[in-house]
Amino acid sequence: MAGVAFKKVSKVYGKDVLAVNDLNLEIKDGEFMVLVGPSGCGKTTALRMIAGLEEVTEGDILIGERRVNDVPPKDRDIAMVFQNYALYPHMNVYDNIAFGLRLRELKGFLWQLSHPGDAKRIKEDIDRRVREVAEMLGIEPYLMRKPKELSGGQRQRVALGRAIVRKPKVFLMDEPLSNLDAKLRIQTRAELIRLHRALGITTVYVTHDQVEAMTMGHRIAIMKDGVLQQCDQPEVVYRHPANRFVAGFIGSPPMNFIEAKITGGKVIGGELSFPLPAGHPGLLKEGESVTLGMRPEAIFDARLAGSVPVNPENTFRATIDVLEPLGHEYVAYLKVGDHPILATLDTATEVKVGDVADFVVRLEDLHLFDANTEAAIR
Ligand code: ATP
Repeated sequence: MAGVAFKKVSKVYGKDVLAVNDLNLEIKDGEFMVLVGPSGCGKTTALRMIAGLEEVTEGDILIGERRVNDVPPKDRDIAMVFQNYALYPHMNVYDNIAFGLRLRELKGFLWQLSHPGDAKRIKEDIDRRVREVAEMLGIEPYLMRKPKELSGGQRQRVALGRAIVRKPKVFLMDEPLSNLDAKLRIQTRAELIRLHRALGITTVYVTHDQVEAMTMGHRIAIMKDGVLQQCDQPEVVYRHPANRFVAGFIGSPPMNFIEAKITGGKVIGGELSFPLPAGHPGLLKEGESVTLGMRPEAIFDARLAGSVPVNPENTFRATIDVLEPLGHEYVAYLKVGDHPILATLDTATEVKVGDVADFVVRLEDLHLFDANTEAAIR
């Protein structure tokens, strides 16, 4: 096994499409790293550079201690799983999984011919490994079927099996769940987490889905326009986003942003006014423009605030514009003056559309961002 490192890596397509811009990222041995970001942010390009499917324009890529910029893909000891499973349609599941192993043994093929005993041993070894992997993934019953006789989820498991059976140093996965329906996606997500725990192989996983990123990654690397914005454990990224982009990308429903000013030791945006979050006073000047960030889940119906204290400092009044019942909670579209605010509310709330009601915010969950640079102020 081995870690993976990007050292000042950039990738330019053609003359001027800067897909990855000066990326520095170290993925530890055995780590599950998720690269996440909106479409076009450069995550697939980053993954393909590890695989050797794209040339690096500048910088170095290391697998373990070895610089691999000029190493052909087949010699990098990696295995890839893509969104489209790319199974061999004419081979059954068993042969699809065994194919890579057989190919590897082909090098010694002539030698095997002259040593029939070894050929038998190799065949048995491949058979044992294929069956082990099939059992691990629950696809034993389908070993003799062709890909077209399988469901999407089963095909994706075969693709995983084909990658796992080779025991690579690094797994590279590019949106491997996006062709599956919602239920199967959640199920397969859990399977992948379990598999990673069992095998402990360094994994780099690309997705645009922040829920997948949050649930699967030991750490997540958030990219935008080819630039790494933040890399940390999911809960750190959620609690302490480095900038407004990360704050808005991670979390669902997304964070509310309100343009505000520092006035008299408070942060005031439209009709909202809160004391400055602890630790900020020294960093902010009177009159400074900031963006105030409030997560929907940090807002409570004032009558159901539980352990959150209710006082004039953290209370605001809003009109309920829309209420979306999700079963376990409501997503409420509030209006404070003209400003729309999203909140998630307990289903015990008695507020109704059109009501004017009091809401409280957990002050320690307020975020402030520089109005110009968008960096978090803390
Ligand atoms: P998606 O989630 O849509 O796959 P992504 O974050 O994986 O997006 P990339 O596919 O890495 O992004 O693309 C990054 C940028 O590079 C985009 O602007 C894209 O248009 C551009 N790009 C990608 N591949 C090529 C290529 N072969 N030639 C030219 N430009 C490319």
